[in-house]
Amino acid sequence: MSSTVADMVHNGEWAWPNTWVNRFPALENLPNVVLNSEAQDRIVWRSREGADMEYSTYVVWDDIRQMQDQAPWARIVWFPQAIPRHAFLMWFLVCKKLKTQDMMSRWGLNYNLMCCSLCMSGPDSHEHIFFKCSFASQIWNGVRDKADMGSIEENWEDIFDYLLQHAESNRANHIIGKLVVGATAYFVWQERNNRLFSTKKRNAANLIEVILTTIRMKLHTMKFKRTSRVNQVLLEWKLPRALLMVKMNAANKLQV
Ligand SMILES: [Zn+2]
Repeated sequence: MSSTVADMVHNGEWAWPNTWVNRFPALENLPNVVLNSEAQDRIVWRSREGADMEYSTYVVWDDIRQMQDQAPWARIVWFPQAIPRHAFLMWFLVCKKLKTQDMMSRWGLNYNLMCCSLCMSGPDSHEHIFFKCSFASQIWNGVRDKADMGSIEENWEDIFDYLLQHAESNRANHIIGKLVVGATAYFVWQERNNRLFSTKKRNAANLIEVILTTIRMKLHTMKFKRTSRVNQVLLEWKLPRALLMVKMNAANKLQV
């Protein structure tokens, strides 16, 4: 750990210990160096583009990973105010990867297709649970006005289209829309699992309350820009005016 670059150079040529060369054969092919005795050793990462960058695991990971274009729905799932466990579920939801019974039967497993554990009549499928199900739709209808999504019917395609349209927006009502959909999906999915795998059961009114309380707590951690529409949001969510921004560049700022 105390070796310096100069220790590995003799008479202008590399002099790597054999054990190092055996382990990292590329050392043999390094061009010779001219040492600057004034300069301190430092660790750098040479990127794929050939740029020397200050070494950090972030820089290395960002350089070696396979980059793809950002998915158009990325900001529906990940945004600064997102609640992490809700974001994780939303990721599965937008990719339609949740393990509903219809999905599992597609893997060729010999499942008897179970009915929805929430309403005990519909199928246990993505389309049904989010939120055509009579139970899940009560929950959606109980929260959608709070998200300024009163006109969005209880089906995932319409909800997703709305969110996609406003995915990049920083307006308070659009951020709240993403939070409300994320929380609703999370708690509906949790209730579906509880009923399938345990004896726990909550009614729609309980779940609506849990969702709204969760969002209200999240909103308490944010700062809002002073506008008349934000005043409406504060009233709607019974939030204190102390959440209005003093400085324009406060973290988590929301604007309308
Ligand atoms: Zn159902």
